Amino acid sequence: MAHSAIAKVSVAVPVTNESSVKGSTFKTYSVSFGSKSWAPGYALDLKSNNLRLRKQSVVCMSVQQTTAPKVAVSPLALEDVKEPPMHVYKAKEPYTGTIVSVERVVGPKAPGETCHIVIDHGGNVPYWEGQSYGVIPPGENPKKPGKPHNVRLYSIASTRYGDHFDGKTATLCVRRAVYYDPETGKEDPSKMGVCSNFLCDSKPGDKVQIAGPSGKVMLLPEDPNATHIMIATGTGVAPYRGYLRRMFMEDVPTYKFKGLAWLFLGVANTDSLLYDDEFTKYLKDHPDNFRYDTALSREHKNKKGGKMYVQDKIEEYSDEIFKLLDNGAHIYFCGLKGMMPGIQDTLKRVAEERGESWDEKLSQLKKNQQWHVEVY
Ligand code: FAD
Repeated sequence: MAHSAIAKVSVAVPVTNESSVKGSTFKTYSVSFGSKSWAPGYALDLKSNNLRLRKQSVVCMSVQQTTAPKVAVSPLALEDVKEPPMHVYKAKEPYTGTIVSVERVVGPKAPGETCHIVIDHGGNVPYWEGQSYGVIPPGENPKKPGKPHNVRLYSIASTRYGDHFDGKTATLCVRRAVYYDPETGKEDPSKMGVCSNFLCDSKPGDKVQIAGPSGKVMLLPEDPNATHIMIATGTGVAPYRGYLRRMFMEDVPTYKFKGLAWLFLGVANTDSLLYDDEFTKYLKDHPDNFRYDTALSREHKNKKGGKMYVQDKIEEYSDEIFKLLDNGAHIYFCGLKGMMPGIQDTLKRVAEERGESWDEKLSQLKKNQQWHVEVY
């Protein structure tokens, strides 16, 4: 790993994250050196007595900018376009982006691994919050010899400005797809997910083929006074991270959020929570505009004493949710396909208990464009 002693650190404000890379512990600080107050790509080496700055060549860059004040974003030209960009690059002729950073964002007790991946697209593949990128993993398609792999879609987890606020990066939140042999219970390396493993294993500077952006169903409605009920399992939180950064972290002159955003996040346990620092910060700073409820299936119990899933949380707040929907709230579902049947059953049951027909309500919600589903 490359070392570079650069300058004295004049300000050191702990941000959020500590990462361990090859035995060294890094903590990411907001630093100023010389006239520059932002040092992307550098972290302090805590093991070094003289606090050298260490150029990051692996995975130790903070992506949680929750201690930053609202950020004035640029270039504002990204607000001028009236229609979302669509398929700027096709899978057959993808754009070659560069990996900026890859960071594991779950704790040691999380089942499985999820990574926060920042990709530099140089401003060439612009997108809006709620859209997805396609990624074409390197190598040959096993089903079509000589051809590239099929494209895999990933929801973009940043705003159009990206995590560096310059409109040149996009962030993905990727869960490594692993295959366990049902008989031995052991991982089978020959059946690992191709694209998610490629992305989670990639290193800063690696190239990545991207297509897109695509998707309109999860676009954030323009009305800054709207209510948004966002339901996620696991990486389904990705588009909501983008929404919430736009609402609460960035300072976009044309979008001053005054509505309500309510996030329900279902994961296995505390260590599996994604972007919890950011969300907790919004809760503290914007208590009138943000609500955040988690369902930790392996830690929380539902009212019947069983595992707490996201639909149990929805049931707990169903009266409020139904009232908000009646008043025009948008409801979003993102994450694993398997989440939908349980949620739909719960909503149907609650509707019936309230003497309403769920089928009619659902078709009305769809007609009013209040119902947004992206599951995979
Ligand atoms: P693949 O190689 O496609 O394999 C798929 C699964 O099959 C894996 O679980 C793999 O382990 C298993 N498998 C492979 N070979 C075998 C075999 N021989 N026998 C049995 N099983 C096998 N994912 C995210 O992590 N984050 C997101 O934000 C996200 N957003 C999405 C948005 C949309 C709109 C859609 C449609 C999907 C999204 N996905 C997201 C899912 C993503 O597109 C991929 O499907 C996922 O990453 C798995 O792709 P892979 O190439 O890693 O696995």
